[in-house]
Amino acid sequence: MTEELNPFKIAQAELASAAEIMGLDKAALQILMEPKRIITVNIPVRMHDGNVKMFTGFRVLYNDARGPGKGGIRYHPEESVDTVKALSAWMTWKCALANIPFGGAKGGVICDPKSMDEAELEDLSRGYIRALGRNIGPRVDIPAPDVYTNPQMMAWMMDEYSRIVGYDEFGVITGKPVGLGGSEGRFDSTAMGGMYVLREAAKLSGIDLGKSSIAIQGFGNAGMFAFEIATGIHGAKVVAVSDSRGGIYDPDGLDYNKLLEAKKSTGTVQGYGKGQKITNDQLIELDVDILIPAALENQITGQNAGNVKAKIVLELANGPVTLEADRILFERGVLDMPDFLVNSGGVIVSYFEWVQDIDGYYWTQDDVYKRLDTIITRSFNDLIETQKQYAKEGRKISPRTAAYIVAVGRVAKAMKSRGWY
Ligand code: GLU
Repeated sequence: MTEELNPFKIAQAELASAAEIMGLDKAALQILMEPKRIITVNIPVRMHDGNVKMFTGFRVLYNDARGPGKGGIRYHPEESVDTVKALSAWMTWKCALANIPFGGAKGGVICDPKSMDEAELEDLSRGYIRALGRNIGPRVDIPAPDVYTNPQMMAWMMDEYSRIVGYDEFGVITGKPVGLGGSEGRFDSTAMGGMYVLREAAKLSGIDLGKSSIAIQGFGNAGMFAFEIATGIHGAKVVAVSDSRGGIYDPDGLDYNKLLEAKKSTGTVQGYGKGQKITNDQLIELDVDILIPAALENQITGQNAGNVKAKIVLELANGPVTLEADRILFERGVLDMPDFLVNSGGVIVSYFEWVQDIDGYYWTQDDVYKRLDTIITRSFNDLIETQKQYAKEGRKISPRTAAYIVAVGRVAKAMKSRGWY
């Protein structure tokens, strides 16, 4: 039987499996199996050739029992409502595990941003916000950047929303540029948070990071900063990286600046000039200590999980490991740190940004990192503690299941207190 790779089906199956283990109330499960609200919009954009093109976008508010919806907006040619639904569910669990006062949401627009110019992207970003209107807001649903969206787009979006309401509303969106309501440290916060988790995971498995080798799948925002932090702060050696076109492997370690140059001049890390060219699939199976999937969903599946040689898998992307792969990795003793813990640094610093916008008082980068470390290390400990408690009853659960149990438990408790069931 082929494995189900519809991301929303995966998200539902993960929830159902955790719900059974934790004995979740049936009514709570029913509410949590579906999003609260799905909005589809069609956005007309004047293209540079003078024609108008229609783009379809979505915004899904999955659950707002613990606070307003929170989650990024993706610009991707293969965006689908099911992907956005899944990601909005994962945002719900991510915010609950981090114990920040947000629910979960996500947005996406079907488009190929690489083939669009600046004016078209501005028009699309503003059009998306106009179409959503008051269905977003600092007390309703707060978007942020994600795959192929950036701080400039968040600035346009904030500006458009402010025009709609008639006053400056910085808190409507996070991931904005510093100086326009953005927070210090937001840009590299996803990778920074992931590296705090890596520090704790390595401690737990007795791995000396200074002597470790790392393979990173994806050389976007998260993957690039992860490379810098893993080598610069942890002293680890990154031996392989990849992008959508393929990867490069050098057991002696890769040079970050040379990779950046190669990516800039040739459009892919494969232009590096040294080492061995590999595929994205080969990267997953490399003999390294730590594997960091930092690209898209469904990269480690039932097909290749048995061949993963890393001792730690650090899920910096959203949804890179399927449920079946999670089970296989757990059985094989690979410490797989789930996405909604590992990449929660982004939304945690988004929370700081929102707080700073509401206060009108901005923190130093040092403050941001310290508070991020405190929150994400607390989440890691909550997860490990839950695993230990279950182990005491003779029940072995994976880190992902433990993370679900913590997060779903918190959302269910909020729904119960609100009287939703
Ligand atoms: N897009 C990021 C994520 O998937 C950040 C979301 C946010 O800051 O709201 O967690």
